[in-house]
Amino acid sequence: MGQAENIYNCVFETFSIGLGPSSSHTVGPMVAAKHFADLVKSKVSQKKVYYKIMLYGSLAATSVGHGSINSILAGLEGLNPDTADPEYVKSLYDNYSTKDDIVLVKNNTLDSNHPNAIRLYAFLDSDKQQEILSRDYFSVGGGTVMIRQNNGKLEYMNKAIITNQKYPFKTMSEATKLCYDHDMTLYQLAKAYELQNHSASQLEAGMAKIWQVMEQSIEGGLQAEGVLPGWLKVPRRAKSIFDKLTNDAQKGLNIENQKLMAYAIAVSEQNADGQRVVTAPTNGAAGVIPAVLYAWVRQQEANDIPQAKIESGIGRFILTANIVCSIIRKYASLAGAEVGCQGEIGSASSMAAAGLTELYGGTVWQIENAAEIALEHHLGLTCDPVGGFVQIPCIERNAISARTAVAAAQLAMCSQGSHIVSLDKTILTMNETGKDMNVKYKETAMGGLAKNFVDC
Ligand code: SF4
Repeated sequence: MGQAENIYNCVFETFSIGLGPSSSHTVGPMVAAKHFADLVKSKVSQKKVYYKIMLYGSLAATSVGHGSINSILAGLEGLNPDTADPEYVKSLYDNYSTKDDIVLVKNNTLDSNHPNAIRLYAFLDSDKQQEILSRDYFSVGGGTVMIRQNNGKLEYMNKAIITNQKYPFKTMSEATKLCYDHDMTLYQLAKAYELQNHSASQLEAGMAKIWQVMEQSIEGGLQAEGVLPGWLKVPRRAKSIFDKLTNDAQKGLNIENQKLMAYAIAVSEQNADGQRVVTAPTNGAAGVIPAVLYAWVRQQEANDIPQAKIESGIGRFILTANIVCSIIRKYASLAGAEVGCQGEIGSASSMAAAGLTELYGGTVWQIENAAEIALEHHLGLTCDPVGGFVQIPCIERNAISARTAVAAAQLAMCSQGSHIVSLDKTILTMNETGKDMNVKYKETAMGGLAKNFVDC
């Protein structure tokens, strides 16, 4: 990490609104396929086009459990993850085998550029002799997609780095120094970036929408019952956990901790069911941040804190978390397929810890400390989803990591913010650990619980 440059990612990219169950396997592929379909449309006017979909690496290994095929089919139909009807998207794979215009090829080898590679072809004829177009896409995590250009170079399709000449930073230590020099805190630094691209009212409205979808995903998950999709037949638990909180049997337990876990599980179950959630910063980890923020909001309401103050707190939380996410994205990865679950759940927990410490009134050093504590204690966490479904261990993991985020914020608030290991160093460590991790622990469902569950 050297001289300062801009690395800040737009908050609406980090917290994009999409469908479960996986940002890299559902949201990214749908964005890629929609882009491809639009390109095809711009080249030919005929209605019937024949597609060939080639999935590589992690996408090939978990294509059904992670909903990649549904998402690509939806994208080819021109649908977007933030507006597509979840039930319709879920039905697409069932109907796919009856279609004569789509061929799917799974290739378990890895593309050298990224573990989540998709090659899309479009043809004029059913024999697939007259090619209209082909493109290579890489779903690099959090719904962000790269495309291989004709010159072979990879370029981001939808990554919005925002520049700000006045406050350039590229590490957390530079960000905290900027805050100190300019007498501001991290959310104000983030806001200064966002206002380069959006008006204050756009930013406010966009963050309100993010929060609305987060709230809906918790409340929807707390009401839903039944069994999640897939042959694991995992029962939904959020509602029963939440309902039990009023029972005598639960007396003596820490109800607030129980509720926090129920909120995280509620979102994760909605995600596993392919429903609408906020990618925060991935879908597998989508329960952590909403749960921590929802628990804080409910507590403020119980204390009769004015609504305007609560809304401003939600914005401060989201912006602070986004600074942490931008740095992780730059120096490590958010994708389980690249660095294991530490990149998904570890990042979410770190972001939530930072946001909550801001709400606790922490200094920038305490915020950095909280983010570091939460991330440090997820280092080495592997990704081994049983059956390729974002259910086991993912759903419970969101609950546990939400609690870790709160614990990290509380621990950071007990100190003055001085500590030995920095967030910057922890992020670099996460990246190195991810590189050293065997590929079977990186969203391939070939190792760990995914293997032993099936073997037993
Ligand atoms: S184990 Fe973690 S990284 Fe892997 S799918 Fe589940 S939440 Fe995502």
